[in-house]
Amino acid sequence: MQCVRQHRNFGFGKVTDRLHIGNRWMLLGMQTYYADGAYHFNITDYQGNIRAVIREDGTLEDTNNYYPYGGLMGSGSMGVQPYKYGGKELDRENGLDLYDSHARMYDPIIGRTTTIDPLAEKYTHLSPYLWCAANPLKYVDPSGKKLRFAKGTTLPFVVNFYTATLFMKQNGTFDNIQKIIDSPNVYYIADGSQFFKPNQFNGIKKTIFWNPNVGLITTKNKLLSPATMLDHEFQHCVNYEVDKNKYINQIDIENEVYTTEEEKSVIENRERQTAIKHNEINNNEKTREDHFGQEFYTRTPSSTTIVTDIDYIFRTGKMLLTRNKNKLKQYRSNHN
Ligand SMILES: [Zn+2]
Repeated sequence: MQCVRQHRNFGFGKVTDRLHIGNRWMLLGMQTYYADGAYHFNITDYQGNIRAVIREDGTLEDTNNYYPYGGLMGSGSMGVQPYKYGGKELDRENGLDLYDSHARMYDPIIGRTTTIDPLAEKYTHLSPYLWCAANPLKYVDPSGKKLRFAKGTTLPFVVNFYTATLFMKQNGTFDNIQKIIDSPNVYYIADGSQFFKPNQFNGIKKTIFWNPNVGLITTKNKLLSPATMLDHEFQHCVNYEVDKNKYINQIDIENEVYTTEEEKSVIENRERQTAIKHNEINNNEKTREDHFGQEFYTRTPSSTTIVTDIDYIFRTGKMLLTRNKNKLKQYRSNHN
């Protein structure tokens, strides 16, 4: 159990930006998903309970009303998707009606979990089967997804992130992200371009800044996709999660070409293995032997295809920065 006061936004897939749909603006304090060729919006209340599902054309697809402990009022239709109370998946198989709270299953009828709280030692004064300290109006239990989108994340970024992670699942490089999702600590993923930040992991903010359309041309002239760069940052994040003190020591040790020992370790090991699995280098090759490289814009988050200026403008509505144009020119001349 993680007792957290209400009035906060939780959940993987939370989008807190505005999205333009048709001729109206919708405030997205809600989860969003894509299925059957359309975006669907889970409308949540102040506690993160999914109260309605609306299709992008405005059709109301599902409504849910809850008792305080999460039991569904009325027929509680299965609806179009199974995520309900606290955004958790309701498993209706065999009429058990248990919520999958990731760490354990939760029965909303008795307001108890089926197994003890993995964090029970922290709350020795409470029963380890209790839900939200028996106070579901004051607390919510956001356990489960430990990777969240940063506040202000836009829908295009969410789509790009899922595109990259789908590619990584298909190529066996999703394990780092999975480790963070399964970890007991919360981390955030933020759009680097929104904050004018290059790809980086910030241990203090517990945030990965990622640019979904920026790849890297290494000093060995290898092209690395944004997905590979995402994995690189997640490796820093995993190192931090596994042994924070070791991570801090490693980033403190300077290395002339790799900048720090932490970078040397990530680049020589994980980055290289991931680039091989992503088909960006051959088995016997290295991505680079330093921490340098030049950014370039890619067609998709999993691609190493360099976009032309016109492509880029059409896709993003932005002009390429002059410095990036020069980088492209330089890259092309190196390759001709
Ligand atoms: Zn790095």
